[in-house]
Amino acid sequence: MPTSPDVLIIGAGLAGLSCARHLADANISFQIIEASDGIGGRVRTDQQEGFLFDRGFQVLLTAYPEAQRTLDYHALDLKKFTPGSFSWFAGRMNKLIDPWRTPGGWTEAFKSDFGTLMDKLRILRLRSRLRRSSIEQLFQRPETSTKDALQSAGFSEEFVHRFFRPFFGGILLDGELKSSTRMFEFVFKMLSEGDIAVPAAGMGAIPAQIASHLPDNSIRFNTHAESLHENELTLAGGESLTARAIVVAADGPSAAHLVGEAEPASRSVTCFYYSADEPPLPEPMLVLNGDGAGPVNNFAVVSQVAPTYAPPGKSLISVSVLGTQQLTEQQLGGFIVAQMKNWFGPVARSWQYLRSYRIQHAQPQQFPGALEPAQRPVRIRPGVYLCGDHRDNASIHGAMVSGRRAAEAVLADFSR
Ligand SMILES: Cc1cc2nc3c(=O)[nH]c(=O)nc-3n(C[C@H](O)[C@H](O)[C@H](O)COP(=O)(O)OP(=O)(O)OC[C@H]3O[C@@H](n4cnc5c(N)ncnc54)[C@H](O)[C@@H]3O)c2cc1C
Repeated sequence: MPTSPDVLIIGAGLAGLSCARHLADANISFQIIEASDGIGGRVRTDQQEGFLFDRGFQVLLTAYPEAQRTLDYHALDLKKFTPGSFSWFAGRMNKLIDPWRTPGGWTEAFKSDFGTLMDKLRILRLRSRLRRSSIEQLFQRPETSTKDALQSAGFSEEFVHRFFRPFFGGILLDGELKSSTRMFEFVFKMLSEGDIAVPAAGMGAIPAQIASHLPDNSIRFNTHAESLHENELTLAGGESLTARAIVVAADGPSAAHLVGEAEPASRSVTCFYYSADEPPLPEPMLVLNGDGAGPVNNFAVVSQVAPTYAPPGKSLISVSVLGTQQLTEQQLGGFIVAQMKNWFGPVARSWQYLRSYRIQHAQPQQFPGALEPAQRPVRIRPGVYLCGDHRDNASIHGAMVSGRRAAEAVLADFSR
């Protein structure tokens, strides 16, 4: 560990690690101060008895340009969801085909009664518009709420309720679709240009791969940065540190506390994991709550996508409930099992509860206005920089871009 590094980075999430990697490539010395006992921040994977538990259901969209630039997808051994989704409504599972990536899917998609013919044509139009636009263009477009935009585009209320609400609600952690169209359009574009995947070793393999490029011992764990005055960082316990540059790569609420900015509002989520003897689905697809009844917004048999997530003979089921709920684990679990029994029959009662995660700050809220400008400044004052998903957008891509931007700002200032 360098005794007096040029740069101190607070936080070993994707933003901090990405920043560190760019500094390492430029031969700038740094030290990362991390409050927790490991790397990854919100992208971590726990292991127990042969199961892999991502800390909240989360996926990599392989089209993210920053991930494509930085990560070695082959080494991550990415396992892909089958394109499309199931949606539970009208008392049964309804399949929404992705006709672009399903052989013979066009006929099935147009025959299916999931969405009107006009809904399907509007999806075609939206998809082709978004694929023709660059990410930069999408983030500069005038914004409104996703719900209003879908309504103005003419999508039927039923289709919004059965597909867009649970699907994008699950990604943006916003069941009311109040989030900015900029984020919706960015995610839709990414979905249309790549796959939804998880690494065989769990989502935590993503930060681990970035960290593998950093010098040994460059991260100081279990060390909480308490306050930042001018260019002096004080750690819990009183130790104080200075450096030519300090990069705050903490999550939005913690970063706001350190640099004295207003705390961003948070989107929360709760994830329950169950083990089953058999996967309750015919194929590895996302399942959406299309009728809106019950707490579960989205559901996946993760081990059907990546068998490494469960020991042989077992299936790992992940269930996401938006928000963090006031209910106890047992109360919420009771409602979840009742809903799952409705979807999959009495077998759901045999699923074994494994663990749950309640994540208060899963993503910064991104209602219209929050992404204006699309990239918020990373230079706060001379010698102090800020990165994290709250600087770009709430995604793996956004966090990694912000880390690179902060490193570029440091390097530019050092070269003056
Ligand atoms: C459940 C869930 C599902 C998600 N789903 C997706 C998805 O499917 N696809 C997608 O692209 N994105 C998803 N996201 C969003 C994505 O994970 C985040 O946007 C991204 O990981 C944020 O990275 P970050 O480095 O900005 O922040 P963080 O990961 O929060 O990292 C910040 C780090 O700073 C440390 N820290 C904070 N304060 C201090 C301090 N005072 N001193 C020292 N260290 C400190 C923290 O311990 C943490 O390690 C999801 C997030 C969650 C939680």
